[in-house]
Amino acid sequence: KDFWADVPEAPKDPILGITEKFLADSNPQKLNFGVGAYRDDDGKPVVLDCVREAERRIAGKNFMEYLPIGGLKAFCDESVKLAYGEDAKCIKENRVAAVQTLSGTGSCRLMADFMHRFAPNAKCFMPTPTWSNHHNIFRDGGVEIQGLRYYKEDTCSLDYDALLEDINNAPAGSFFLLHACAHNPTGVDPTPEQWKGISEAMLAKSHFAFFDMAYQGFASGDCERDGAAIKIFLDDGHNVACSQSYAKNMGLYGQRIGCFSIVCADEAQKVAVESQMKAIARPMYSNPPLHGAALVNTVLSDPQLKAQWFKEVKGMADRIIDMRGKLREHLEKEAPQRTWNHVTDQIGMFCFSGMTPEQVDKLAEEHSMYMTRNGRISMAGVTSGNVERLAKAMATVIA
Ligand code: PLP
Repeated sequence: KDFWADVPEAPKDPILGITEKFLADSNPQKLNFGVGAYRDDDGKPVVLDCVREAERRIAGKNFMEYLPIGGLKAFCDESVKLAYGEDAKCIKENRVAAVQTLSGTGSCRLMADFMHRFAPNAKCFMPTPTWSNHHNIFRDGGVEIQGLRYYKEDTCSLDYDALLEDINNAPAGSFFLLHACAHNPTGVDPTPEQWKGISEAMLAKSHFAFFDMAYQGFASGDCERDGAAIKIFLDDGHNVACSQSYAKNMGLYGQRIGCFSIVCADEAQKVAVESQMKAIARPMYSNPPLHGAALVNTVLSDPQLKAQWFKEVKGMADRIIDMRGKLREHLEKEAPQRTWNHVTDQIGMFCFSGMTPEQVDKLAEEHSMYMTRNGRISMAGVTSGNVERLAKAMATVIA
C-alpha cells in the first residue's frame, strides 16, 4: 500500500521561493533583498566578536549533556532581565515564568500552544500585515486569528486611530500579538506616546499583550530603547508575555536560541505556569539545545562581554540606519515624484517600500533584484556598493 499517495505538495514558503529564483538567476550582478539575515557592508554574514570570545570560553567544556526541559536557567534569568529591565518589579518579586525556546519561532509556538490549552476560546488579534509565519504558528497551535488594523498604505505609516478602534471594539479580555520593536514586515513602530495610548486602551478592556521581540537592540541600536514598549505596559500594570530571539541581535540564527516568558500575578502562579510551559515542551522536543544558550549566557553574564555586545549590535543597527539614509537620498534624486521619508522613518531590518507586486516582479526580471512581492526590502542586503543601483532600478520600475 502506498500510504502517502494523496499527499499534495505544500505551498512554497514565500521567502524560500525568492531564494530559489535568486539562485537560478545567472546574472553575476544579481542581488537578494529577500532574506532577513544581517550582512556587513561587503554583503558577508557576520559572527560577532563577543560570540567568538564566548565560543573560546566554552570550548572544551563538558557540555554534551541534556539541558532540563526548560533549558539553561541562568540563560533564562539573563534573558528576562534584558526584556523587562534589571530592576523590574516582576523579576524582584519572582513572578516571571520563563523557558528557553527554539528561537523566536519556538517561543511564539509555545505561546500559541499555551493559549490553546489554557485560554481555549480566545482569539489572537495580530497586526495586518504581520510576519507571515505568525499565521502558520497560531493556526497550527489551534488558535483562531483575527486581524488588527495597523498599517496605512497611503502614508506607509501607523494607522494609530484604526488600531485603537480595533482594540476598543475587541471583546474584553482579548489576546493581542504585538511586535515589541522593528515591526516585520513594515518597519513601522508606534512612538512611546502611542505605546502608552495602546497600553491604556488595552488595560481599560483587560486585554492581554503578547510581545514578539525578535529584534531587541537591532532596531535603534539600543536594547533598552527597543524594549521600551514592554516597560510602558509593565508600568501600567499589565502582566504581559514575551518571546525573545537571539537570531538577529546576536547573529545566532542557526543556533535556534530564544526565551519565552509570562509575567504572572505572583510567585505561586509563576511556578504553575512555568510547569505547564515545560509540560508543553516535553512531548514536542524534550529539551532545547545547549550550545546557543551557553553562548548567550556567557555574553550576558559577563559585564565586559555584554558591553561589547551592546557595541556590536549598535554597529549592525547603525549600518542599517545609514543605508536607509543613503537609499532615501538616492530615491529622492532618482524618483522625486514620490515622497521617500518612510524609508528613514521605518526601523529595523525591513523597509516596506510601497512597491506593488508587479513592480517587484519587474525588479527581478529586468534588474536581477529579488525581494518579497509585498515590496519589502531587507535592508541587511543593502550596501554602500549596491544602494545606488537599487534606487535607480526602483525608480525605473515605478516610473
Ligand atoms: N518574529 C518575527 C517578527 C520575526 O521577524 C522573526 C524572524 O524573522 C521571528 C519572530 C523568529 O525568528 P527566529 O525563529 O529565527 O528567532
